[in-house]
Amino acid sequence: MASKTKKASIIQKKYLKRKQSPKKKINDDPYARRCVTQRAPSADQTCPMRLCIFLTSENEWYLQTNSCLHHKYHPKLKEEAIALSQRDLSEQQQSLVNVLFGHQIPPTTISKVLSELNDDDKGTYLPKTLFNYNEKCRNLIDVANGILPTCSDAEKTIQKLEL
Ligand SMILES: [Zn+2]
Repeated sequence: MASKTKKASIIQKKYLKRKQSPKKKINDDPYARRCVTQRAPSADQTCPMRLCIFLTSENEWYLQTNSCLHHKYHPKLKEEAIALSQRDLSEQQQSLVNVLFGHQIPPTTISKVLSELNDDDKGTYLPKTLFNYNEKCRNLIDVANGILPTCSDAEKTIQKLEL
């Protein structure tokens, strides 16, 4: 194990290294940001939207006048980046998804297939959305066959074997 003085010198070296490293230039490329960040690239580009609320003694919520309900400086979301829901699936897409799931195709692949077949490039089906859709379909088929969601997995398997 390193001695205390050695540890201290390592920490000192790291500190100096960090101090010497050039600072990140903020305004080089406004698009060179991770899309999941919640921070504005600079203070003057911070979204002014603020919700200030208060609760009265009568247990009623009020919106304070110094609130701001307008968003600003949010980067525009690309059309294909919008997540589609189960309701957006056309009948044709629904049957395609069911067939692909029936052939044990993973939801990530099904999502890619749907994107490939989509002509207008508007929105994407997340694999989780497709997985949930398939689960819903399977549950409906089970109910139609008299297998209730309250049954245990073992009971469901026995009933499926009896079909
Ligand atoms: Zn905002």
